[in-house]
Amino acid sequence: MSKDQLVVVAGGGGFIGGHLVANLRDQGYTRIRSVDIKPFNEWYQCLDGVENLQMDLMDLGNCHKACKGAGEIYQLAADMGGMGFIETHKAECMLSVLINTHMLMAARDAGVGKYFYSSSACVYNADKQTSEDVVALKEADAYPAQPEDGYGWEKLFSERMCRHFREDFNLHTRVARFHNVYGPLGTWEGGREKAPAAMCRKLIEAKLSGDHTIEIWGDGKQTRSFMYIDDCLKGSQMILHSDCLEPLNLGSDELVTINQLVDIVEEIAGIKLKRNYNLDAPKGVNGRNSDNTMIQERLGWAPSIRLRDGMEKTYKWIYDEYMAKYKGKLGPRAVAPKGAHVHKKELSVEAGG
Ligand code: NAD
Repeated sequence: MSKDQLVVVAGGGGFIGGHLVANLRDQGYTRIRSVDIKPFNEWYQCLDGVENLQMDLMDLGNCHKACKGAGEIYQLAADMGGMGFIETHKAECMLSVLINTHMLMAARDAGVGKYFYSSSACVYNADKQTSEDVVALKEADAYPAQPEDGYGWEKLFSERMCRHFREDFNLHTRVARFHNVYGPLGTWEGGREKAPAAMCRKLIEAKLSGDHTIEIWGDGKQTRSFMYIDDCLKGSQMILHSDCLEPLNLGSDELVTINQLVDIVEEIAGIKLKRNYNLDAPKGVNGRNSDNTMIQERLGWAPSIRLRDGMEKTYKWIYDEYMAKYKGKLGPRAVAPKGAHVHKKELSVEAGG
């Protein structure tokens, strides 16, 4: 596609959306529209040279404005968070169906060239995720449907809508099932953060406070894989431009227990903590990994960034954020990546939402 066509990132004020906007701009895309419901000072990256719009994409009229003139759309906007959020906000998660429905209708009406939808590994049948000793999830394992209650049902339904908009209206839709994405410039406190960021924050708190204990949700034996943001950006763009009509896994297949994730962060932080297991806290499924056979076959590529390497960068960023916020040295929340320029007036010193 021409780098002069308009690319729209819905949810551009969020973690993945912010990185995607920065990445597209760094690649030389000249017309990027980034749309999010949050005020600009809460966007992780609010970049110069981009048309930044604050709009509620649950509203059909706003979706028409967002999609107008677009060549490509990345639909990432959703009301979501880590396990602590999605297990306690099922209705809110399901209401993202309004965003997905209206964005598809508006994209169809605007004659958009290509439409990307970010689905999730939470669509997979829960019966396939009962043991820590996992068999990695293949794309076919989403059916018969028994996804994560609330959030997962909405994602599965919206995947199906993408399929039927493609079949019935000839809209080029492509779907990726993201598995746990992590990296800098994302949520690390406040209740919506996910395990990698939460671990970094807890380690930092323990280190700075001198209280060398850590609370772990569950028994620490749950298994997961975590994909670094750079792999997510590359895979999403490859999937959008591919001929893969069915949803594809986009995740790392480097499986770790939560205890091993803590080991990694302890090593990075240079500290050993006493672990307290909270068996009543939300912990999600017992085991989950991404089977990357299909993406490897179809794209000749799969995520490969090692967890240790990605966590090193993530820890460093969260450490700096933590120090800026809590050590009295006020600093910007949004730290622009290399080559990016953050609007000065849109910098926030306070992480609150
Ligand atoms: P995020 O919460 O940082 O970003 C989502 C953005 O959508 C937020 O900035 C939010 O303000 C915006 N949004 C919510 N409601 C909106 C509305 N009504 N109108 C406009 N904007 C709205 O989350 P993220 O981690 O960047 O995730 C992006 C997408 O990827 C989401 O669809 C999510 O479900 C999916 N996903 C993420 C992960 C992950 O590990 N991060 C895993 C699986 C799927």
